[in-house]
Amino acid sequence: MKSKFQPDENGYFGQYGGAFIPELLHPNVKELADNYIQIIESEAFQTEYKALLKDYVGRPTPLYLAKRLSQKYGAHIYLKREDLNHTGAHKVNNTIGQILIAKKLGKTKIIAETGAGQHGVATATVCALMGLECTVFMGEKDIVRQAPNVARMKMLGAKVVPATSGSKTLKDATNEAIRYWIQNPATFYLIGSVVGPHPHPDMVARLQAVISEEMKWQLKEKTGKENPDTIIACVGGGSNAAGAFYHYMEDQTVELIAVEAAGLGVYSGESAATSQLGEVGIIHGSKTILMQDAYGQIQEPYSISAGLDYPGVGPLHAHLFETKRAKFMSATDNEALAAAYELTKIEGIIPALETAHALAVLPKIKFKKDQVVVINLSGRGDKDLEIFIKNLEA
Ligand SMILES: *Cc1c(COP(=O)(O)O)cnc(C)c1O
Repeated sequence: MKSKFQPDENGYFGQYGGAFIPELLHPNVKELADNYIQIIESEAFQTEYKALLKDYVGRPTPLYLAKRLSQKYGAHIYLKREDLNHTGAHKVNNTIGQILIAKKLGKTKIIAETGAGQHGVATATVCALMGLECTVFMGEKDIVRQAPNVARMKMLGAKVVPATSGSKTLKDATNEAIRYWIQNPATFYLIGSVVGPHPHPDMVARLQAVISEEMKWQLKEKTGKENPDTIIACVGGGSNAAGAFYHYMEDQTVELIAVEAAGLGVYSGESAATSQLGEVGIIHGSKTILMQDAYGQIQEPYSISAGLDYPGVGPLHAHLFETKRAKFMSATDNEALAAAYELTKIEGIIPALETAHALAVLPKIKFKKDQVVVINLSGRGDKDLEIFIKNLEA
């Protein structure tokens, strides 16, 4: 039986998803849609993907029982250590998988868009690994703000193209990438989250599903049961949460909590809490929930963490939200900062600011005794040091 949380043949999760793309891209997108599942499920792909995840990325990532954090919140809190992956976050699980799919389809040129540069670096990394040409579109403003990641991408051999229109940030970089893709339909568009036209949301979810696949046997080893009571993950586009939820979505006994960035406050006008503020619309070629004004113009989101600073959410998450399968919560900039300092002090782990949003809901939940909770520790905080230092002084 097909799962309620798998897309139908047109790429719809409930009412969300699909592929709203210009005519010129149809052959390219169809080629991918017709082949991605077969490729991913093939033995050749699985062998190469798993070998790279093991020897290049460093998987399986540990599932760590955070004793002092557990004591403080009165639950058994495990951290899924995606921060220990090569390049410092979960994003590489997806880029490794997509580069292998691109190669199987005979593509030699890769394009990507990036906001803070994390996905750009993860893409440039796998292009260097495979010797493929890489072009990354990035808002002009972000190029200035994220100089170290721009340097990394260049060192890895990628070409970084500035997007100079609009607000000169992520959504403009995405528009540029799509424009380039239309002109060069044979290139492979390596999207960084569970967003974009079908089959990207489902493809990226399948590639990130390795997170919950490992969680199952790791929990069994440590607790005697494959299932936790609760899984918590932060949501920008939704890929790390999709990976952490994937093998548990059908099992209603596992509570899923998705945490969005509330910026300066959900209703402050400076926020990225899409599920609470958004309405149905189309963004990046897919029908989903997004933040827009009365005229349907996409609203500029805000969060202290660049990775959550996205005006939409992937169609799978829109569906998880609408069906109430996942509970959506949010955390403000200040709550996330406090959570990051706390984890650093009591566990010796500096999390990414994105990840800190997932940690920030701990004080808001009343846990039952012996509740088993897994928090997906999506990335490490080295990249956010400047913000951490500034706020320590403040
Ligand atoms: C990019 C990023 C995110 C947000 O992206 P998702 O697709 O929602 O996972 C979260 N955490 C870290 C560390 C990131 O780099």
